[in-house]
Amino acid sequence: MARIVMKFGGTSMAGIERIRHVASRVKAEVEAGNQVAVVVSAMAGETDRLVQLCREAASLYDPREYDVVVASGEQVTSGLLAITLQGMGLPAKSYMGWQLPIRASGHAAALIETIDVDVLERVFDGGGIAVIPGFQGVTAEGAVATLGRGGSDTSAVALAAAMKADRCDIYTDVDGVYTTDPRIVPRARKLDLVTYEEMLELASVGAKVLQTRSVGLAMRYNMPLKVLSSFEDKPGTMIVSDEAIEDSNMERNVITGIAYDKNEARVTLTGIPDRPGVVAAVFGPLADANINVDMIVQNIPRAGEASDLTFTVPTASLAHTAAELEKLKESIGFAEMLTDTNVVKVSAVGVGMRSNAGIAATMFKTLADRGINIVAITTSEIKVSVLIPEEYTELAVRVLHTAYGLDAEEDAA
Ligand code: ASP
Ligand code: MG
Repeated sequence: MARIVMKFGGTSMAGIERIRHVASRVKAEVEAGNQVAVVVSAMAGETDRLVQLCREAASLYDPREYDVVVASGEQVTSGLLAITLQGMGLPAKSYMGWQLPIRASGHAAALIETIDVDVLERVFDGGGIAVIPGFQGVTAEGAVATLGRGGSDTSAVALAAAMKADRCDIYTDVDGVYTTDPRIVPRARKLDLVTYEEMLELASVGAKVLQTRSVGLAMRYNMPLKVLSSFEDKPGTMIVSDEAIEDSNMERNVITGIAYDKNEARVTLTGIPDRPGVVAAVFGPLADANINVDMIVQNIPRAGEASDLTFTVPTASLAHTAAELEKLKESIGFAEMLTDTNVVKVSAVGVGMRSNAGIAATMFKTLADRGINIVAITTSEIKVSVLIPEEYTELAVRVLHTAYGLDAEEDAA
């Protein structure tokens, strides 16, 4: 017997027909002798609709009341799933965030603080099935709170950790995590096994498959995650710890996937004076303003000459960054500030990089062969990233996918 959390996303819950299908999946796990808690999303499109209604009601709405409105989508689907399971003769009941409770702080992007599992333990002792709305919790004041868009994944993982589940299964509309975005590379392959760290880095590839926060949480609690299709019977992708992968002793590719992120903007300060403390004078105030600087490149000046400093920030922070730097222009004494949003960060990710040299060299050579100019580079233990002009996104992802041996075998047609 295992204890599992099954989480179903919005497309899986969109309409009674699909909810019946979800119920049959739950039934199969229960009949296999497992203890099951089900976490559900609102029907696809419902949360968008509710958010829009709040905006129409007032452009500066109260986050507390926003939560009251947007949490309702999951209340509806959890009740409907419980009714459907009961109709199949199964002892299912829904439990809202406040009934467990799932304690959270803040509104609109609340953080889970604690989850009480006494109610769930009693449900399991009595052989029952708990259906729990994702995305919601309750504040210390007893108000409903929501966890931010895509938050049902985080609800599911947090619940799995609290109830010491054996695993957390995330059912969605794709059959797993891919080596890269299949819209760009039709020969992208579904991955069987990914580590938490890789998954965090591959966020752009897993486009909306999992809320990033939920992966961080799973990593912290070492909770095995499985991403699988609600519609097709396929094995999906397991997301596990590094050690679990080493133990499995599988032949893994050195590179697991190619990710890209168009959400970066480049900033270059020219004519930076060559004296100690200048770099700190730039990045200190940006950090104080909560701006996340990602890639950094500084030219080494010839003695006594000025140099250039290039770095990237999230596109959404560019205006804020420019305003901060403008204030510093006098004191630092740089010549010009140049910005560019038409850049993309392309990354090769894989834990195998730790024990293999030459990964970065392959990347540079592959891009050079295509005449793609690299603006900035960063590396971590399991990732090499380059900043390139955005118009080369598709080309770069495709050639790197091939260069690292990730392309699926051609179908013998
Ligand atoms: N329904 C919420 C959303 O669309 C939460 C979720 O489904 O994860 O953001
Ligand atoms: Mg989602």
